[in-house]
Amino acid sequence: MPLPENRTALIVGASRGLGLALANEYLKRDWRVIATVRGSRHTLLHDLAAASEGRLQIEMIDINARDDVANLRQRLDQRHLDLLFVNAGVAIDPDVAIGKVSTEDFVTVMVTNALSPMRVIEALHALVPPSGTIVAMSSDLGSVSDNVDGGWEAYRASKAALNTLMRSFAARHAGDPRSFLLIAPGWVRTDMGGPEAELSIEESIPRVVDTVSAQAGVPGLQYLDYQGRIVAW
Ligand code: NAP
Repeated sequence: MPLPENRTALIVGASRGLGLALANEYLKRDWRVIATVRGSRHTLLHDLAAASEGRLQIEMIDINARDDVANLRQRLDQRHLDLLFVNAGVAIDPDVAIGKVSTEDFVTVMVTNALSPMRVIEALHALVPPSGTIVAMSSDLGSVSDNVDGGWEAYRASKAALNTLMRSFAARHAGDPRSFLLIAPGWVRTDMGGPEAELSIEESIPRVVDTVSAQAGVPGLQYLDYQGRIVAW
């Protein structure tokens, strides 16, 4: 295992919310961080980079753009990623029942939350060494068996699809020594989670990072929440 100051994390989708906090938390823990934004507007991640003494590098990628993914893979060609964490995601109105969801919204949420994160993982996982970790940000709402309250119908389906695709990835990489994780960060006060959410970012993200760290070197796929508890599939 490299010394902490030599470890590198790639956080995909870090302009704000949980991704920004992940970048900040890994910097605090002495990692080098590559973190992504989409578009050229100034974000809080740029302020974090300016204060990072060169330890935070910003890359641009829209995960829904295949060329962006391929170009990022090329730019990072010689790099080792001890952690690949795909955090980017979108939600649509949680109260719209599936019959009322437009095809366009359904495609957007499915592509952004399920297909595109897997494309990023497929494109970049070869940069993650045998001791490394690959994480996709899931949700408690991605659990099929825990869906007793309903709501968030299209979003739930997209995270359940992400979970299934990660299981397929793990099955295809059976015997791989790397750690694969689907993380449920809790219901957190971000633009997506809204002001009524249970947890502050500070109550979630350090524990997400503790959970990911605790699984380093543990091979196979696990679906865990921010406190390290198993989430039912
Ligand atoms: P957020 O505040 O809305 O931030 C979403 C992040 O994803 C932003 O950085 C956004 O970039 C990025 N993103 C969205 N679409 C993208 C795309 N096509 N390409 C690249 N980046 C894209 O949401 P959040 O609450 O931090 O959520 C982060 C992750 O946690 C998501 O996967 C979400 O589903 C999951 N999650 C959140 C909660 C919660 O309660 N907050 C609970 C469970 C799971 P822009 O700034 O460019 O839009």
